Amino acid sequence: MSTSLRVTFLGTGTSVGIPVITCECDVCTSEDPRNQRLRASVLLEWQGPQGAARVLVDTSTDFRQQALRAGIKQLDAVLYTHGHADHILGLDELRIFNFVYRKAIPLYADAATAAVLRHVFSYAFDPDAIGVPQLDLQTLADRVSLFGVRIEAIPLGHGRGTVQAFRIGNFAYATDCNSISDEAAARLQGLDVLVLDSLRRKPHRSHFGVQQALAEVDRLQPKRTYLTHLSHDLEHVALEQELPPHVRVAHDQMVIEVPLGDDWRCG
Ligand SMILES: [Zn+2]
Ligand SMILES: [Zn+2]
Ligand SMILES: [Zn+2]
Repeated sequence: MSTSLRVTFLGTGTSVGIPVITCECDVCTSEDPRNQRLRASVLLEWQGPQGAARVLVDTSTDFRQQALRAGIKQLDAVLYTHGHADHILGLDELRIFNFVYRKAIPLYADAATAAVLRHVFSYAFDPDAIGVPQLDLQTLADRVSLFGVRIEAIPLGHGRGTVQAFRIGNFAYATDCNSISDEAAARLQGLDVLVLDSLRRKPHRSHFGVQQALAEVDRLQPKRTYLTHLSHDLEHVALEQELPPHVRVAHDQMVIEVPLGDDWRCG
């Protein structure tokens, strides 16, 4: 049995994606594919007791394109970080997995996010509707056991709202945040890899800027950090050159493997 968690960055861009429609800045016109960023999402894969498990974090606006590009053929569950448009609008694309697997897809969302999903996608939750995604929406608890591993949901501040970070083993994904409480910080200790929001150079009312993200890295002390949810304010190579070596810039289609300790496995 594999002992690692495979993380595929399906998208690393901010809510409008990069290039930004109408923009002709150096990043938006860059030919370096690392500056072309779809909306933020990751795919998590590991070997569970019944075989490979593939769990998607968020159904981004670009999910269809991301699934085709990453060759996603199987999807066992979706975890939602929060209910903002860029993280949910690809939900309808889950239908194709219903056609292929002929069963509902489990979705895990906190109460506020579940309410947004039921509102925005009301047709999909109408029991009499036909031809709509078949979804099994479950309330996200502090910890959830999925396909043989324990996943912790850790609430962080995101402007006036809350976003869920997810920790599996010594990997954590923390997109769309601008504050981390002491309680959350305690649950984010001992990480091998942290993926952290870093929108732009200047601070933002609901996202960390680069310097704030670096301050959180100093506080949480993960061995490696990857910055994500990046705007066109940040050019990939220039940003990497100014960061310390243990902090890197994530890019679309990057794949990383993180060891998954036995203490995160469960029945
Ligand atoms: Zn976002
Ligand atoms: Zn631009
Ligand atoms: Zn957001």
